Amino acid sequence: MRLCRRAFLGLSIQGLLLSACTLTPSQHSALKRARVLVVGGGFGGLNVAKAIKRLAPECQVTLIDRNLSHTRCLGSNWVIGGFASEQSLQQDLPSALAAENITLREGEVVRVSHNPQRLYLEEGETLPFDRLILSPGIDFRWDQIPGMSESLSRQIPHAYKGGQAGLLADQIKSMRQGGTLIITAPQNPYRCPPGPYERASLVAAYFKQHNPTAKILILDAKSRFSKQKAFTAAWDRYYPGMIEWISNETEGEIDHVDPRKRTVHMAFNRFQADVLNVIPPQKAGRLGEQLGLTDASGWCDVDPMTFESKRYPSIHVIGDAATIGPMPKSAFAAQAQARACGVAVIQSLLERPPIEPRLINHCYSLIDQSHAISITSVYGFKRGSKELITLSQGETPPGALGEVEAAEAYGWYQLILEQTFG
Ligand SMILES: Cc1cc2nc3c(=O)[nH]c(=O)nc-3n(C[C@H](O)[C@H](O)[C@H](O)COP(=O)(O)OP(=O)(O)OC[C@H]3O[C@@H](n4cnc5c(N)ncnc54)[C@H](O)[C@@H]3O)c2cc1C
Repeated sequence: MRLCRRAFLGLSIQGLLLSACTLTPSQHSALKRARVLVVGGGFGGLNVAKAIKRLAPECQVTLIDRNLSHTRCLGSNWVIGGFASEQSLQQDLPSALAAENITLREGEVVRVSHNPQRLYLEEGETLPFDRLILSPGIDFRWDQIPGMSESLSRQIPHAYKGGQAGLLADQIKSMRQGGTLIITAPQNPYRCPPGPYERASLVAAYFKQHNPTAKILILDAKSRFSKQKAFTAAWDRYYPGMIEWISNETEGEIDHVDPRKRTVHMAFNRFQADVLNVIPPQKAGRLGEQLGLTDASGWCDVDPMTFESKRYPSIHVIGDAATIGPMPKSAFAAQAQARACGVAVIQSLLERPPIEPRLINHCYSLIDQSHAISITSVYGFKRGSKELITLSQGETPPGALGEVEAAEAYGWYQLILEQTFG
């Protein structure tokens, strides 16, 4: 039976559990009738659409994105570090879905109705659904960085979402000799917790060759950061004196930014940049708020067993937009959640109880083109509860050489791109 055979093609242990049971004719027709809509053609959306279609080919799955060419963030620090092209970040959604029997729609989703269940596109079209899965990514909290705005980010790039990596790379390339790059790192939670520090490392590798007296200053809204010991040991080893990290305990919060002068005014001092990279505080992609799915934190709170919104149970949210226990916001996590969410959606269509998902996050950060560090976390449910907790965690010991991890990082990167966009 097709459901069983396809489930063996690398989905997950949950898929195997699902396929182990034979479906009755009425369950087959329940799947056949099911209209599943997925919003977002990034790591969460594409992987959940593919997972559902592979586990239950009879389901009608439609994926909607406002743009049929997705600009990915994974690998964007390589562009900023000068060893990948901006063009390489473009992913074509029609080719990502060419081998799948999934309908692709271009459109901006703006609204949902619950009775009857319908999704509304900006252009006026409505799409009925039985299950809706959202993976809309993030938006920025510009109101928390006085002086900055979305439009000013075209001169002072964040390069943390869609299409600014090339702009920041160009500014870094043309920076004066001995100049200063300032990166402001946001408060948790935000997309890719080690991202600002990998960025500093790869720009330092570039400066070492092209601008050896340049400096990088990280003004952090936090007092600790992801893989901190391994990053700082690597900075001491490869870039002594080049990267300075200043925590909020030393300088307080950002008071405001003067984009014209490229200065960052902190609670106690003012810092002058030649190139300024302001990474703003974040929240769920605007769609979460538009559909009434966000809580006071600005993120979509979901049941980590099924990824169903705590506000509207037939809507699931995965990826960066959702709060899923202690999981970080990463492409790896989005893919793991997508696969588990696919199983949860099918279980619910079959009116079966959820299967407890096994969730893992593994995250590499390059220090330069040949060295990397990583962190791995395994998640599970607190016994007898619905609370997702970290069961175990390990990271690269400070001072490790990281050559093998760099090779593994490139391998994983190829794999996730093939699985998501291939
Ligand atoms: C610099 C940087 C480096 C990173 N490095 C890594 C790494 O090494 N490893 C790792 O695992 N992760 C990394 N990440 C994180 C990773 O990119 C994100 O976690 C991942 O993209 C999240 O996927 P998503 O599906 O939640 O959102 P996205 O990939 O942002 O996809 C959201 C999609 O939804 C669409 N959309 C949103 N709203 C609407 C709407 N209303 N209507 C229609 N379409 C809509 C958007 O057009 C977009 O295509 C990095 C991120 C950055 C910024």
